Amino acid sequence: MMCAWAGKILYVDLTKEKIREKELPKEWCIKFIGGRGINAKLLWDLVKPGIDPLSPDNVLIFGTGALTGTNAPSSGRTTVTCKGVLTNLYLKCSMGGYWGAELKYAGYDHIVIMGASKDPVYIWINNGEVEIRDASHLWGKDVRETNKILQSDLGDRDIQAVCIGPAGENLVKYACIMGSFYNAAARGGCGAVMGSKKLKAIAVRGSGELTIKYPDKFMELVYNLKGKLQNYVRVKRLYMYGTAGGVKGYSDFYDLPSFNWQKDRIDGAEKISGEYLVEKGYLKRRVGCFSCSISCHRYTEVDHGLYAGTFSGGPEYETVFALGSTVGVTDTEAVLKANELCNILGLDTISTGVTIAWAMETYSRGIFSKEDTDGIELKFGNADALVKVIPMIAYRQGKIGNLLAEGAKRAAEQIGHDSWKWAMVNSKGLEHSGVDTRFVKGYALSFAVNPRGCDHLHTQVICEYGYSPEAFKIIEKITGDKKWASPRYTEYRAEIVRYYEDCYAVTDALGFCTFTGYYIHEDPDVMAELLSLASGITFTATDLMNIGRRIITLEKCFNVREGADRSYDDLPWRIMNEPAPEGPVKGYVTSLNELGKMLDRYYELHEWDPKTSWPYKETLIKLGLEEVAEELAKLDKLPKR
Ligand code: SF4
Repeated sequence: MMCAWAGKILYVDLTKEKIREKELPKEWCIKFIGGRGINAKLLWDLVKPGIDPLSPDNVLIFGTGALTGTNAPSSGRTTVTCKGVLTNLYLKCSMGGYWGAELKYAGYDHIVIMGASKDPVYIWINNGEVEIRDASHLWGKDVRETNKILQSDLGDRDIQAVCIGPAGENLVKYACIMGSFYNAAARGGCGAVMGSKKLKAIAVRGSGELTIKYPDKFMELVYNLKGKLQNYVRVKRLYMYGTAGGVKGYSDFYDLPSFNWQKDRIDGAEKISGEYLVEKGYLKRRVGCFSCSISCHRYTEVDHGLYAGTFSGGPEYETVFALGSTVGVTDTEAVLKANELCNILGLDTISTGVTIAWAMETYSRGIFSKEDTDGIELKFGNADALVKVIPMIAYRQGKIGNLLAEGAKRAAEQIGHDSWKWAMVNSKGLEHSGVDTRFVKGYALSFAVNPRGCDHLHTQVICEYGYSPEAFKIIEKITGDKKWASPRYTEYRAEIVRYYEDCYAVTDALGFCTFTGYYIHEDPDVMAELLSLASGITFTATDLMNIGRRIITLEKCFNVREGADRSYDDLPWRIMNEPAPEGPVKGYVTSLNELGKMLDRYYELHEWDPKTSWPYKETLIKLGLEEVAEELAKLDKLPKR
């Protein structure tokens, strides 16, 4: 019997209505660890190139981290992987909460959903007993109602469920999968993939156990780390104010994308900050994921005014940027309402806000008339319009709802008039998250190379800001000199991005939250020790970083097989061509030429061909990806040196 892992993969074929389970191969655990790593292996093996992501040929994979379900700090995360709907490329999302731990206690590390049902169904997993059940009474219900009905139907308030809302049912291209009310596998349209399979929810109850090989030593290390985390200044701030803490400061320093990146600050930013939510009593509870000693999640309510009765998990920083500053709205209660709507309808808040911001700019340029927007005055700062248009997107209502449900890239392609220039997506097609990559160069590179598109959760190189002594230390470790801890440099960004990529891949494979920062997520020695003590298999820091590289490379190869090349590793037009307009960042742009130099060095470090960006055969073999090399060779996608 394996320690740490539950030891089984569950396969559910919704077309054939067949359920089977297989032993989790030990060699996969050693090569890919778990979570994101094993998900990437399954995706590569099971998805044929060129399939429609909304067809039954796509697979939807849920993977718990190798340490999920243990009490290692903040280790309860689950990765959801499939071929993405917005991009037609690789997609992975990391989701917090309690669902992953519950799944492991029910006996499974991964679930692979294949095929598609004709009628709405949900999957009920009760300690190793698995059923596909009718969900016709759940279809059309929002996330909150779905959770309540499932708890009542199953007679158990403690079940854990992931589900889609109406946005997923209506195949909105950026529909998300929600885990309870606080967690989302948010980006790239995995909710639409679940909707295309007519799968409304997966409810789980587990009361089994996991085995830890060396429990005393493991617990000693766990307590030590929990103590360190609780005394860590960044963690204290996350607990107090959540990820939206400091928004006013970002705006004051011109580091808060606003008005669709036409500005980097907004008057009234303090009203959408985590501090304001605490001071004014909107924050009702602080919430943590399984085994988390940080508790960055929020639960907020609006007690009075136009939006009285609003309540939801969040908002996170990315939400207050996307449904606040980038659409020009600083009305706290409207932003909380917009957040609630996205959460219960099952929409990714980032893509929702950034797509609406594109529409607002299109409207402000006179390209949209009121007829195009179904009578809504869709201009920046119009909180009422924001709140009105979100349900229209989820239900694909009217001209504007149906158009914006396609995401900014496809909407701009339909509308024309150069509107692609202010659609904040790169060639891959995912809406850019809340950083201005014109003047934060490590982020710019990491956004460009992210296989799922332009966002921060592939590699977040926050240390390049040099905000803390720990940040300087890590920059010195990577580059040899702490002077490179400035986001304005382009030198050494490739080295920094590559280091963090490996850390991120391992962190996701183990199930850790990246907010464990310098104490776990960015310290491969600590992650190796935890995994070794839990599993009884010796992993060194070097082993883990090599596994991280293997995962990153396999994800890259998925995109290569789909036809992606170097031209996909770019940034939105505005970021590369339109300088930041004001403040200390005025004039900054990350030009194609500047990005190109960082990319050259990045591909060189990875031993990928700089012309195509494809990995060389020798690189794949060195990483133990021989079968990937063979398949790419057949497709003539192995570059010659
Ligand atoms: S820090 Fe926040 S996101 Fe991370 S595990 Fe804890 S509650 Fe979840």
